[in-house]
Amino acid sequence: MSRSILVTGGAGYVGSHTVVQLLLGRFKVVVIDIPNSPLEIVLKRVAKLAGEFGKNLAFYQMDLRDKPALEKLFACTSFDAVIHTAGLKAVRESVKNPLLYYNNNVIGTINLLEVMVSHGCKKLVFSSSATVYGWPKEVPCTEDFPLCAANPYARTKLFMEEVCRDIYSSDSEWKIIILRYFNPVGAHPSGSIGENPSGTPNNLVPFIQQVALGRRPELTVFGSDYSTKDRTGVRDYIHVVDLANGHLAALRKLFDSNIGCEVYNLGSGKGTSVLELVSAFEKACGKKIPLLMAGRRPGDAEIVYASTDKAERELNWKAEYGIEEMCRDQWNWASKNPFGYGSPDHSTSQKTSSS
Ligand code: UDP
Repeated sequence: MSRSILVTGGAGYVGSHTVVQLLLGRFKVVVIDIPNSPLEIVLKRVAKLAGEFGKNLAFYQMDLRDKPALEKLFACTSFDAVIHTAGLKAVRESVKNPLLYYNNNVIGTINLLEVMVSHGCKKLVFSSSATVYGWPKEVPCTEDFPLCAANPYARTKLFMEEVCRDIYSSDSEWKIIILRYFNPVGAHPSGSIGENPSGTPNNLVPFIQQVALGRRPELTVFGSDYSTKDRTGVRDYIHVVDLANGHLAALRKLFDSNIGCEVYNLGSGKGTSVLELVSAFEKACGKKIPLLMAGRRPGDAEIVYASTDKAERELNWKAEYGIEEMCRDQWNWASKNPFGYGSPDHSTSQKTSSS
């Protein structure tokens, strides 16, 4: 019998790509996502991408802070594991409105964990972020590096990682895998699912995309005085489909081993500068991206990329796509869906959904 997996935030960027891979991997999937996400449109597309396995998908609009609703869901369905991707993720917004972030990301996760315990479901894949490495003193980042949170968003991830470690220490029946995402970009190669744009993008690739679509005049490059190959910031970009496959690898590990509570980096293991990424995107979209060179963005690290040795060794997982494919698929999605899942009016409303 196929296993049943709950995916929180399953209509979000990482969640939706993960659900496609889960369905193709013969899992039954139940998605919950917040009431104002474009849940139905996304999941119809997800089901279509999964072909005959699309029938194994169910979804509900639900806020994790609504504990009675969560209880009800767990009372009617027995889940073999939970993949928890839901959460707010905009750094700037978290600085302006920390309580919103603590309320969503912390209270929502605690509710989920409590309901899991009360229904005996003790297998979890938790979406964390490379943001917990703060300003790493060296690269590549290995999972045992010291952790540090530079803003409220990062702190919610760090807190929840610690909560996971504590609940495992208190009850060794738990099996928990914490995945530290580096910088997810790209979209499903079909171009039918991708990241839904929401207001002014915080992240590099969604911003470049808007310039390429003619919606913004130029890209502001934050910092051209770093001690990196071309003086611009370096990050580890990972194709969202590779990231989705990392969740399947983690899930298999949960079912096939006595994992305890472990952390894995999900990145490509390669550092790419802002200018390298711009150039790859220009090739993919066939347009010039005008640049405005500016000062460093406050709080930014200079260079961050992952060591992927642990994930390769223990999860048997490795990223397959490079930045060319990431930019190709990002542009394919953007040109087919210039306003994401919504109409022009809806595309600018503030997103409060998931990773
Ligand atoms: N960046 C930039 N212009 C932008 C957005 C980002 O130059 O409009 C740079 C940023 O300074 C960093 C890199 O692009 O060096 C990745 O930024 P992003 O916010 O996407 O990821 P994070 O810094 O959170 O890893």
